[in-house]
Amino acid sequence: MPRQKVRPEILGFTPYVPGLSIEEIKAKYGLSTVIKLASNENPLGASPVVQQAVARAAGQVFRYPQNHTPRLCAAIAKSMGVPAEQVVVGNGSDELIDLLLRVVARPGEDNVVCYEHSFSIYGLTARLCGVEYREVPRGGDFRLPLESLAEAVDHNTALIFVTSPDNPTGLAAKAEELMVLSGILPEGTLLVVDEAYMDFTWPPEEYSMMNELGALGNVVVLRTFSKAYGLAGLRLGYGVMPEWLAEHMRRARLPFTVNILAEEAGLAALEDDAFYSATLEAVFNGREQLLKRLPELGCQVWPSQANFVMFRPQRPAGVVCEELLKRGVIVRHLKSFGLPDNIRVNVGTGPENTAFLKALEEILNA
Ligand SMILES: *Cc1c(COP(=O)(O)O)cnc(C)c1O
Repeated sequence: MPRQKVRPEILGFTPYVPGLSIEEIKAKYGLSTVIKLASNENPLGASPVVQQAVARAAGQVFRYPQNHTPRLCAAIAKSMGVPAEQVVVGNGSDELIDLLLRVVARPGEDNVVCYEHSFSIYGLTARLCGVEYREVPRGGDFRLPLESLAEAVDHNTALIFVTSPDNPTGLAAKAEELMVLSGILPEGTLLVVDEAYMDFTWPPEEYSMMNELGALGNVVVLRTFSKAYGLAGLRLGYGVMPEWLAEHMRRARLPFTVNILAEEAGLAALEDDAFYSATLEAVFNGREQLLKRLPELGCQVWPSQANFVMFRPQRPAGVVCEELLKRGVIVRHLKSFGLPDNIRVNVGTGPENTAFLKALEEILNA
């Protein structure tokens, strides 16, 4: 053993294994085109308006950014109808999840609560912070188990995480139900609603907690530019939270985690209504196409409010994913979410969705 020590909570970590890249898959299977429907990225790519804004800002990259990106905070606040003091911008919402844990949860003392088959970052970050991670089960229908979450909370629960719409099921909780949960939490417990996919719900006001924040003192809403705004590679997310918490988040964070290009891209993206509307239209149409066709191919599907669909094919999911890869389509096998029978596919362009469904039909009829 080396003399240097590693914290015991880190010893049990298994390294994240990413899938093969598009280039690796092309080489391995001898393909000229590969369709990636595995990471819930924007089907329309990067907005031309955003690309121009990034190009215009390129000459400024020798400068440090403005700390806490005040211009972007103001633009987000205006667009969401919330006070700018309550907005904290981060290097992806992943940074905000990490910062929230570090600001409110005491290592070795507090716990955070979530449900099984959820986004891995909550548990990973909790363990990294030395904070107990509690998972409650959910039924076979995968409904968000809000009652069980409330039951698992105790006086040392610092945070509850709810993803709505949920990744990977696509199911969403109504804002009304989340308000009930917020109302029964002990003092000192915060409800974090990760709304990464909220743009794709209909009607959004029935689902989002953004408009309810003012009246509730214990709710944090997380949003991201990675999905509906097509900026996954630039890393930009934000949280809206009570002012006292936002203030402490700003004090605790490392300076300059949001870079100059990301800030300019975010500002341009918020103004780019045409790209945003086109994204929603592509996602709504594609989602309908997938939800209609998958059951015709004998797959079980779950109703989705997100830009992806979870389904269970009649053949083993691992085999189906491998066969799709051979045909140049990358989807997400949900084994790592503890759902080895299920697959998540995100909505692509019309032709991509059609190519995926055609390949799947071939595999399932073989
Ligand atoms: C994609 C996703 C995010 C966004 O993460 P970023 O760090 O902003 O890219 C957050 N939460 C969930 C559940 C997601 O699936």
